[in-house]
Amino acid sequence: MHERNAALIQRDLNVLWHPCTQMKDHEQIPLLPVEQGRGAWLKDLEGRWYLDAVSSWWVNLFGHCNPQINARIKEQVDQLEHVILAGCSHEPAVELAERLVSITPQGLTRCFYTDNGSSAVEVALKMSHHYWRNIGKPHKTKYISLANSYHGETLGALAVGDVALFKSTYEPLLMESITVPGPDSFHRDEGVSWAEHAEQMFVHMEAALENHAEECAAVIVEPLLQCAGGMRMYHPRYLELLREACDRHGVHLIADEIATGFGRTGTMFACEQANISPDFICLSKGLTGGYLPLAAVLMGEDIYAAFYDDFTKLTAFLHSHSYTGNPIACAAALATLDIFANDDVIGQNRQTAELMAEAAQPLIDHPHVGEVRQVGMVLAAEMVKDKAHMTPFPWQERRGLHIFRHALERGVLMRPLGHTVYWMPPYVISPDEVALLGEVAAEGIDKATRNP
Ligand SMILES: *Cc1c(COP(=O)(O)O)cnc(C)c1O
Repeated sequence: MHERNAALIQRDLNVLWHPCTQMKDHEQIPLLPVEQGRGAWLKDLEGRWYLDAVSSWWVNLFGHCNPQINARIKEQVDQLEHVILAGCSHEPAVELAERLVSITPQGLTRCFYTDNGSSAVEVALKMSHHYWRNIGKPHKTKYISLANSYHGETLGALAVGDVALFKSTYEPLLMESITVPGPDSFHRDEGVSWAEHAEQMFVHMEAALENHAEECAAVIVEPLLQCAGGMRMYHPRYLELLREACDRHGVHLIADEIATGFGRTGTMFACEQANISPDFICLSKGLTGGYLPLAAVLMGEDIYAAFYDDFTKLTAFLHSHSYTGNPIACAAALATLDIFANDDVIGQNRQTAELMAEAAQPLIDHPHVGEVRQVGMVLAAEMVKDKAHMTPFPWQERRGLHIFRHALERGVLMRPLGHTVYWMPPYVISPDEVALLGEVAAEGIDKATRNP
């Protein structure tokens, strides 16, 4: 029994190359082999259970091996596993598009499927430019995005992102893009509210739009929460101002809700908190409840109409992915939306979010925690070297790894982003499990910040 984990790890390291990983790290840091999932928990090959505090990279909503989603997938597999979506149609793709149109912000009436978040971002970027080209403004080729933003790993998505760790190596390959200082509330001055900070920082966006609107197709943002950028958060006021300014300057607004969608920030979509509709919304991650790769981009009828013409006009959006609208993935998404429709998920999450805030209380006064912040079902604590001056720990010290290791010993899968510890659990997490997150994070931060 005891050798089962080790044996799988050895075979893994012989053949696999893991995502977003310096493989040499695994000389020191053990892989976690997982055999089974149930609810918010994962079981290794030797029978130990781990609480999934990161929702398996922010995708899981209603637990691993959720009975309702499992059943819906099994039904679909026996009916139709896949079919080309160009020229063909199927019930799951149609029903899912209908339901996404009905639950997303007003005005988004068309659904284009892709098979992961990055490719959804590529579609929104390409389609925005292509729209302007089709209506006689082919010079609109640039994009504006926020400092510290993340929109995926493919070259177009990487070009509009701003996380140096992922981007700088590939800079020579990337299209030029316009990055403006963002409304990240972590950088506000003392005594300034989140809303005031958002308004103050908007001057940079306004200036960029004034200077570049003519050559600019779209502004792309992660509404309210920059996940990969270290769980940084900002006030909805920024989105209100941005919607108005994009309209005034004739530039599209792309909302990348790949991580924020489906209840993560406390509302079904983060844009709802600013009461705005973007021109494009990108959805993935929670879309299938964390089961299968699927993404969708929704846009309005005005955009659709600009592509709708005789074939020989060559205005069509000739973009595809092999697994576009996969029926099994659509079925998982439909089962996920059923859970939202039948249970008061958003209301229950409000209570869970309060428990998360309570569990994080002891972290606030920790001498090496600079800030504890939260939006909905995401809570983050920022470790700093010197709290008085908010001096960060040098990134090379990798103090987050101590927390990762400690959490594993305590039966929790917690993966700090650099020196930011965060919880982004499945919505089915219980009060006791939330309390466990609090304990383990506090112990982990103690260990991680002990000298040297
Ligand atoms: C994860 C993520 C993406 C990329 O999605 P993938 O499915 O990993 O390609 C894009 N934008 C945001 C905000 C994300 O969190």
